[in-house]
Amino acid sequence: CSQTDIDVVIIGAGPSGSIAASLLHQQGKRVVVLEKMQFPRFSIGESLLPCCMKLLEEANMLDAVNAAGFQFKNGAAFRYQDQYTHFDFTDKFTPGPGTTFQVERASFDKLLADTATEQGVEIRYDQTVESVDLSASPKLTVRDEDGERYTIEAKYLLDASGFGRVLPRLLALEKPSSLANRSAVFTHIQDNIGDKKVEDKAFDRNKILVSVHPKNKDIWYWLIPLSDTKCSVGVVGEPHLLGDIEHNLQDLLMTMIEQEPSLSYLLSDAEVLRDCALFNGYSANVSTLATDKFALLGNAGEFLDPVFSSGVTIAMQSASMAVKCAVRQLNGTQVDWEKEYCAPLMRGVDTFRTYVEAWYDGRFQDVIFYQDPDNKIKQMICSILAGYAWDETNPFVHDSQKRLNLIVELCK
Ligand code: FAD
Repeated sequence: CSQTDIDVVIIGAGPSGSIAASLLHQQGKRVVVLEKMQFPRFSIGESLLPCCMKLLEEANMLDAVNAAGFQFKNGAAFRYQDQYTHFDFTDKFTPGPGTTFQVERASFDKLLADTATEQGVEIRYDQTVESVDLSASPKLTVRDEDGERYTIEAKYLLDASGFGRVLPRLLALEKPSSLANRSAVFTHIQDNIGDKKVEDKAFDRNKILVSVHPKNKDIWYWLIPLSDTKCSVGVVGEPHLLGDIEHNLQDLLMTMIEQEPSLSYLLSDAEVLRDCALFNGYSANVSTLATDKFALLGNAGEFLDPVFSSGVTIAMQSASMAVKCAVRQLNGTQVDWEKEYCAPLMRGVDTFRTYVEAWYDGRFQDVIFYQDPDNKIKQMICSILAGYAWDETNPFVHDSQKRLNLIVELCK
């Protein structure tokens, strides 16, 4: 069957797909979401940034998220050898929410998708998009739950397929990332941290803990509390630094954790709750983010690195920006997608890029661990770490490279 009365088809019901669907529906557009999996399904990307909260509010999903009982989050903590520092996201330069949550993505993504459905959006699960034809209106070939193929046509197409990267693959848009090839090995644990303290500091469940490997600053670990008793833990580095990733992932992860004494102590009684997983070479880029027929959202476009937990924020932000353009186009206004979507979205992505690159060359780590920071500067950096990477009034956004270089010198 072919359906031509659809305004927008969205590939994928992760955060970018659900938010985009909800926003389009609010604007009176007929939208269909095609999702390959049944929900709930596991996904990585569990630590949100406060900036997400205003995007959830835009989509009328904030009440549902606030009521769901996810782990509260108010900042980020960093540890390197005996140095510890933290950022309180409520003490930041940019106005807007200063707290958020850390979430098991299986239930978070299901909540967003179910909320969109309650709002009136049609989401079809177990539907795999296999090919695309852009010779006229965007037309997709889809394999349904019974293995049958059908086509679906719409006036516009949003690719929210995340690491599935449907359009980049089908339209040969893939482009190498500017970042090194890194891998992540991770799992969920019953942490049993109890009242363990490191250097007299209790572990703060309201913050993600990013620990730097004591001997190799290119390797880092996340510890993300998901509840009073459960954490997500992972290690990130170039594959050759992590050891034999083809071998036993749990052994690899535990060996890496043992190499970081504070983390190893905190997790000395931990029990692994799920098979360790490997994400190899996660950084990705594309040659084109949007045209008058399609736009790539979230991870279907560029993905940088998990170190500042920016992925879901970028995904939601891209949904919000793309929908505004799509609605205008559907209403008959000509949209310059490069100027009105790609460039503004990339301003924030490039801000994150500045700090991610400087994290790995060590300069931003020196800034983060600097023991006597100027409070105003710390608030400006804190805004970016809280996700407000599109706030041009923040000099560390507007002039990110120059400002970063300046404080790197000051911290020497
Ligand atoms: P996704 O959430 O990936 O959703 C895409 C959906 O599309 C999926 O449900 C999938 O089933 C569906 N799909 C795929 N192919 C098809 C197809 N052919 N047909 C139909 N449907 C399809 N981000 C954070 O914000 N915080 C973190 O702490 C964080 N940690 C991370 C750690 C690691 C190791 C990595 C690699 C990433 C991390 N991220 C983090 C990034 C985060 O995972 C992503 O940025 C985020 O999930 C992107 O959301 P999305 O909506 O673009 O895509």
